[in-house]
Amino acid sequence: MSLTAVYDTRPYDRAALEAAAAGTVIEWRFWDFRLTSETAASAQGAHAVCVFVNDTLDRACLEVLAREGVKLVALRCTGFNNVDLAAAKERGLTVTRVPVYSPYAVAEHAVALLLTLNRKIHRAFNRVREQNFSLNGLVGFDLHGKTAGIVGTGKIGRIVAQILCGFGMKVLAFDPFPNREWAQQNGVEYVDALSLAGRSDVVLLHVPLTPETRHLIHAETLESMKPGAMLINVSRGGLIDTKALIAALKSGRLGGVGLDVYEEEEGIFFEDLSGQVLQDDELARLLTFPNVLVTAHQAFLTREALSDIARTTVANLKALASGQPFVEGSVLA
Ligand code: NAD
Repeated sequence: MSLTAVYDTRPYDRAALEAAAAGTVIEWRFWDFRLTSETAASAQGAHAVCVFVNDTLDRACLEVLAREGVKLVALRCTGFNNVDLAAAKERGLTVTRVPVYSPYAVAEHAVALLLTLNRKIHRAFNRVREQNFSLNGLVGFDLHGKTAGIVGTGKIGRIVAQILCGFGMKVLAFDPFPNREWAQQNGVEYVDALSLAGRSDVVLLHVPLTPETRHLIHAETLESMKPGAMLINVSRGGLIDTKALIAALKSGRLGGVGLDVYEEEEGIFFEDLSGQVLQDDELARLLTFPNVLVTAHQAFLTREALSDIARTTVANLKALASGQPFVEGSVLA
């Protein structure tokens, strides 16, 4: 038997992981709390831990895991900004992620945020339920003929670009590693970051969070965007300087903001806090703008993505148990 302690577990994680591991040697210990240095001792006796985006695997946490005999940290996500890879390596811990799962799930959610914001579906939904059938204040714009700027043309960004091309938008892109063949095939134009900001009616972020991309969107970037432009972020909250974003929204410069991620989401997103006083003043302020739409990190949440994630995670846990190679492209440290 191979024991894996799973952190920040929700019912949909549990169902997908149990289904993927049926008939294998894998045994689960599901925890609904997050993994941090304070909770890491709960991994005692486990060969592996399975973690998600808001677990904090800093040096202190990894030291406890290594001491408890854990061999593998299996991330059930793509991004890995929450793991100190150098510390993991020093402690001899292997770290794997899910390098690919339905990128359509995330791309389609980005487009859902864009369509909802532009056509003000979130406001219309509430109005109609109150029998307010007025259309005042609900005017949107045709996406057809407008310009979208995609920052990061990896797996997700490319799909978003293709969907938006299908709407008849002009698509601009910026990526330090441009995929020119794909761009040519799809009529996408690579430009520098500043031109993208200045020419786009809608800017969508599809880049990983790294020290270089932290606050990629700051006061000056927001200033260089077209007045009335929309900004969509389904990647990582730290890509945007929240204070600068709030200032740009207050000034009325931005047309709309769709966020599936938030800089300080840890401890808030994935939790039901409906009976409590929200302690995060910046998130509270963001939620007051009629042209801001926030979802709580749900872009990945489709049946297809969950089962892809569970399949890769279980394959890596089986590899650990049998000494076979890990899934290609999944080893980070
Ligand atoms: P990917 O690795 O395929 O692509 C990322 C792209 O960003 C690469 O082409 C890279 O060259 C580019 N890039 C790096 N730095 C850049 C910069 N400064 N400016 C412009 N481009 C830059 O990744 P992906 O699978 O497309 O995922 C993108 C991100 O989406 C992930 O890192 C993750 O943080 C996020 N994500 C969010 C969810 C969610 O549920 N909200 C789910 C999955 C992934």
